[in-house]
Amino acid sequence: MLTLLPWHQSHWSNMVRARQTGRLAHGLLLKEPAGAGAYEFARYLGGSLLCPSPQDDYVPCGTCKSCSLYEAGNHPDLQLIQPEEQGRQIKVEQIRALIDNIMLKSQYEGYKIAIIKPADAMNRSAANTLLKTLEEPPPLSVLILVTQRPERLPVTIRSRCQQITFQPDFTELSRTWLADKINDRKLADELLVLAKGAPLAALHMYENGMIEKQDAVLVDLARLSNLCADPVKAAKQWNDMGAEQVMLWMLRAMTDMIRLKADNAAGNLCQTGTWDRLRKLTNRLDLYKLMTCYDLLMRNYRLCTGQVSYDTQGLLEEFIIHWQQQHLQYEG
Ligand SMILES: [Zn+2]
Repeated sequence: MLTLLPWHQSHWSNMVRARQTGRLAHGLLLKEPAGAGAYEFARYLGGSLLCPSPQDDYVPCGTCKSCSLYEAGNHPDLQLIQPEEQGRQIKVEQIRALIDNIMLKSQYEGYKIAIIKPADAMNRSAANTLLKTLEEPPPLSVLILVTQRPERLPVTIRSRCQQITFQPDFTELSRTWLADKINDRKLADELLVLAKGAPLAALHMYENGMIEKQDAVLVDLARLSNLCADPVKAAKQWNDMGAEQVMLWMLRAMTDMIRLKADNAAGNLCQTGTWDRLRKLTNRLDLYKLMTCYDLLMRNYRLCTGQVSYDTQGLLEEFIIHWQQQHLQYEG
């Protein structure tokens, strides 16, 4: 059953108003921090547009043939365009096929919907091809672009879409939603802070034992600084956990370490266990050395998340060696 995530209510109210006044855009660009649920919102909107008998506020009925097909992922008037392999580009052929299809008449005499995610995965010619359709959209068509990196989309695409920005959400709505999912209010609040206000990302962290894994990375960092762990082995383990994720944790940890070093009373770290660990990690490093670690990590994180594929384990090894070097220099 399609449900609207509770923290999306105000965006939904805007959609309802736009539809009531006939001002729903043909191109929508949904921008979010990872895990805020923009894709879920796009799915909900698509289902609502395709349902011939929606309830009040265009809530999809959930029982008609259209809703059943939609929820089973088989609705002929919905196209979902995403990279054929994760992390790859959306190719121009995929966008051409989308356009050919969206030009055809709807099979249920209603809307034709396409969801493109992540829209920033479109390569240049794919984006150019889509632009023509955004400029002259067929009637009753809605293109929904979902992205976590809007800056990577050409300005021409962005300016042709109505933009909807999903902000980090720390309100009671998302806190209660998360607490209900994991049955733990206190942990829910901590996770939401760690996930920077993205409730789905917080849930994902919980389901994948991320807190434990994150702690394990900090333990590794301590052991590596004492030369008690094999750098290549550690890099492989981190790479297996997901290089991008591990780098993101470490960047966050480094930021906190720098904050601790600059101001020992910095009190806004949310987990006290982590706090102790981080403080110990800063013992043998000065601010300058910490910053060089942060810089290298940030550079490697950018390489890791860029369009070109890199040897991610190699990037992790490079960081570990730099981290160890900073400790060796300390000992003279
Ligand atoms: Zn329906």
